Amino acid sequence: MMEPQCTNLDTPVQYLRGIGPKRAGALKEIGITTIDDLLSYYPFGYFDRSTILKISELPKYLDSEQKVTVIGDVVQSDVRWSRRTRKAIFFLTVSDGSGFLTCLWFEGAEYRRKAFKTGETLALSSTPSLDSYQRLTFVHPEIDRLTKGEDDEPDWGKLFNTGAIIPKYSSSRELESVHLDSRGFRRAIRTALDAFGQYIEDILPFETLRSRGLISKREAIKSIHFPATMDDQKKARTHLVYEEFFFQQLLHAIRQNERKKEPKGISYTVQSARAKKLVDSLPFKLTNAQLRVIREMNDDMRAPFPMNRMLQGDVGSGKTIVALIAMLVATDNGYQSVLMAPTEILAEQHARTIQQWTQGLDLQMRLLVGAQKKKERNETLNKLKDGSINIIVGTHALLEEDVEFHSLGLVVIDEQHRFGVMQRATLRKKGLHPDVLVMTATPIPRTLMLTTYGDLDVSIIDELPPHRQQIVTAIRKESEKEKVYEFARDELRRGRQVYVVFPLVEESEKLDLKDAVSEYERLKAGVFAGFSVGLLHGRMKGEEKDELMKRYKENSINALISTTVIEVGIDVPNATIMIVENAERFGLAQLHQLRGRVGRGSDKSYCILIANFDWYDLHKKKLTGGEITKEKDAARKRLQTMAETNDGFKIAEVDLELRGPGELFGARQSGYRMFKLADPIIDSDVLSVARDDAFTLVHDDTLMNKPEHRLLGRYVESRLKPLLQLSEIG
Ligand code: ADP
Ligand code: MG
Repeated sequence: MMEPQCTNLDTPVQYLRGIGPKRAGALKEIGITTIDDLLSYYPFGYFDRSTILKISELPKYLDSEQKVTVIGDVVQSDVRWSRRTRKAIFFLTVSDGSGFLTCLWFEGAEYRRKAFKTGETLALSSTPSLDSYQRLTFVHPEIDRLTKGEDDEPDWGKLFNTGAIIPKYSSSRELESVHLDSRGFRRAIRTALDAFGQYIEDILPFETLRSRGLISKREAIKSIHFPATMDDQKKARTHLVYEEFFFQQLLHAIRQNERKKEPKGISYTVQSARAKKLVDSLPFKLTNAQLRVIREMNDDMRAPFPMNRMLQGDVGSGKTIVALIAMLVATDNGYQSVLMAPTEILAEQHARTIQQWTQGLDLQMRLLVGAQKKKERNETLNKLKDGSINIIVGTHALLEEDVEFHSLGLVVIDEQHRFGVMQRATLRKKGLHPDVLVMTATPIPRTLMLTTYGDLDVSIIDELPPHRQQIVTAIRKESEKEKVYEFARDELRRGRQVYVVFPLVEESEKLDLKDAVSEYERLKAGVFAGFSVGLLHGRMKGEEKDELMKRYKENSINALISTTVIEVGIDVPNATIMIVENAERFGLAQLHQLRGRVGRGSDKSYCILIANFDWYDLHKKKLTGGEITKEKDAARKRLQTMAETNDGFKIAEVDLELRGPGELFGARQSGYRMFKLADPIIDSDVLSVARDDAFTLVHDDTLMNKPEHRLLGRYVESRLKPLLQLSEIG
């Protein structure tokens, strides 16, 4: 009988010729324990043999603008002072026996002087030029260190002459100390391929490979490491990228499938007297988008499986009322609901709003936050447990173990991206298969949506309530601040309200940022004299914050000086100006959220971003190709984006570009860790087809019983399902 493929590729690397216990130990540190792991340690780049030249060949390429690579030994290094630029220049002379090449750097001379040793072998890539002495020169070349192997015999020439394309592997000091540098990996992987390559089998169904034009897995693994041409490498990559997406999407499909056939969920009667009464009493009409989302939710709530829905809607689109309607459905059916928000201020606001909206609906709503007195808290916990509270609103405090429900039927999580996977799961587990609605105002680009939240159903409120005005966004520099204040005073005189936001609560010597506390004193005494001014920051007690927000909402405080604690969710429709100080310090998502605090009523609103640098100057520099640091350029781009668009999706795309997905959604959450090669943005086309294929397969052959799916089925059971629990989201 044929062994399943795992057994052979599961051989510990230690038994590979040339590895042994010491290297196996070092490999284990980076998660490589089996042959399979080693073969999936993909190169991060390649030397393309076709562009590796002898130094003597360089003159032919002088005018070609083509990037070429030279391999040579360091002959000499030198630091010289340039009188013109008043900076040190670093020179490195390299030889490969056919000639000499000068490399130079206009920065980091001191650091570089120490970094290179005479005699070491380097691969250098750049476009060749001639310096003023007509010497062949590389300016700021890219460098790869080619340390010599343990047998002390650099066989670069041989390698480069024989192999067409040479893979480059990342290494570390620890790995290098056991000779597992790029070259060591090359050798180990070559050996592994020779000995075990024959056992690599396709887990993907043959029909899928055929219809998607993919090469076999064995070919793919061979060519990702040692491609004959870069075209082969591309084909190999496509196979592996497809496979990564396919497995992930398969998990999403399986999970969705299992949830939807789960008969244990609650089957609600969605005709709700309370919800109807609420809607009839609202001072506004629900938007079509809100109505559509309510229908989508109702369908889920009626069905016997637990709802697992994400509600996306830009800031101010009116998600709260939609969530409340779902909670009223639960209440009418005799179930309890919980609404969790990331900050106390927001939880308190939700509690106030819900209190107002549900007056006369005969239900019990309570607030649970960290700052409450013990007696109050205990009373709430008791009533929650005996079922007399219908709706509970709160913060992380809800996650405590002693928070128990009588019959939790609906979990709503506001600003869900502020919570971790485990926190959402904890809350959900307080009920028996409750319905789950997570809400977010941070729009998630589709590609990320598919990878990260692939098994969630999605509802989108893509329409703002009517009569909302576009928010005018302006960028100002420090020196123009008086004018900004003057403008703010005008709005205050018209009875409108103002936010002024600072980045930090306390003075930080290092960053020289304004201290909200001392600025508050200054603004209160001077700029906003004659108006009522309040200060809000994260260090204040819950009650104090609550009191302050209440007074701001009533407009007995006209101008609110604050740190970013007001960033999410706060809803004061009469506030029309948002002034952000040191705006260059804020992230895009944050700025968008802050701007979302205004423009919530029918009055024209303004967001004024005060930057601590001359933005226009920077912008001009950028347009004329002047030199800007990366940091400043990113800040410039953030502000520019804010000025250009109010569209949360566009902003999210730029944010994704500037920060990368890991940072944006947290490495754990983003699902990016699952991928070695795939990039959901670059490879979004492959992602789409892999998703289609995976969902179709689970739909057509749920148990993977068809002969052509057997291997896949086994793989799912032994490898993928164990991941399922880890990646579960609440
Ligand atoms: P977000 O989606 O940002 O959480 P909220 O739920 O806080 O938005 O709603 C923003 C404001 O819009 C609130 O004052 C809310 O009462 C109001 N609102 C919600 N729906 C509508 C509507 N259909 N028409 C007018 N105002 C609405
Ligand atoms: Mg909200």
